[in-house]
Amino acid sequence: MPRPLIAGNWKLNMLRSGATELATALRKGLEGESKADVVVCPPFIAIPAVVEALRGSAIGVGGQDLYWQDSGAFTGEVSAPMLADAGCRWVIVGHSERRQYFGETDETVAKKLRAAQKAGLTPIVCVGERLEEREKGVTKDVVGRQVDGALGGLSKDELKKLAVAYEPVWAIGTGKVATPEQAQEVHAFIRWRLAGLSDEATAREVRLLYGGSVTPENVRGLMEKPDVNGALVGGASLKAESFLKIVRG
Ligand code: PEP
Repeated sequence: MPRPLIAGNWKLNMLRSGATELATALRKGLEGESKADVVVCPPFIAIPAVVEALRGSAIGVGGQDLYWQDSGAFTGEVSAPMLADAGCRWVIVGHSERRQYFGETDETVAKKLRAAQKAGLTPIVCVGERLEEREKGVTKDVVGRQVDGALGGLSKDELKKLAVAYEPVWAIGTGKVATPEQAQEVHAFIRWRLAGLSDEATAREVRLLYGGSVTPENVRGLMEKPDVNGALVGGASLKAESFLKIVRG
């Protein structure tokens, strides 16, 4: 089984001072051996401060999004080489909030994740169904389409250099976490789909994170499932105490 990965998505929160304070507290709290790889994804503008606060620690830093062109007349965008240059090693791609509010599609997700890999960043690719899709019984159709749309055509080597986050939209920021069984069912499906795009050995190496209202109270049950290799954490990553508890399981 791959080493667990716990990533914090800070979304549109925190000024530089708060971001530095949180990063410093995480650094202190995670000194020594950690059972998981840990990543934080601050807003773009706070990335340099967080990279500085975490310099020399094992905690990685990631962007929350990127644009697929390296440079040019694309006002307001941030590219993969820019994130890498700022000290990021990770980037979230295709978060449901980007899909819902900013017109992200499977096609743009595919372009972004390729641009990220080209710059040496590890993408965390988000997929997940909306509530009405789950209620209609089409969760696997939706997630399968998102996985194929984003990851189809990647080599085995490229597939091993990314993580997939299953984030049911109805569970994000709602306090309504998926049950460990619901998460496991979709994770097993995603892994099977990844095997279809490559082979079973490759699929086994890809880290599959669960995201959606993860807290210190529910993380253990989720992580006990065989196909859950980590978590993408929003709200509970904004306080050092709760994020550290999640990392420690
Ligand atoms: C997220 O932003 O990816 C997320 C899972 O948020 P939350 O943990 O707040 O539901």
